[in-house]
Amino acid sequence: MKWVWQLPVKRDKVDSFAWVHGGAKYHAFKYGRSLCGRYINNVGCYDTRVNEKEIIGCPDMACKKCLTKAGLN
Ligand SMILES: [Zn+2]
Repeated sequence: MKWVWQLPVKRDKVDSFAWVHGGAKYHAFKYGRSLCGRYINNVGCYDTRVNEKEIIGCPDMACKKCLTKAGLN
């Protein structure tokens, strides 16, 4: 199974400009955990997915540790 890049956004904060644009990063989730170990996937809270090609094209929007673990930087 490959990881899935997801933005850890809680539903009640999706509308918060500060949360979405204030440095939230995509993390690579595999088996319910982010590769960096910082987040545990919780269905319903972490559901904003992005294509890995977008991550590769714009690595600034992803967690550096997850990028390293995924071998993408
Ligand atoms: Zn991460």
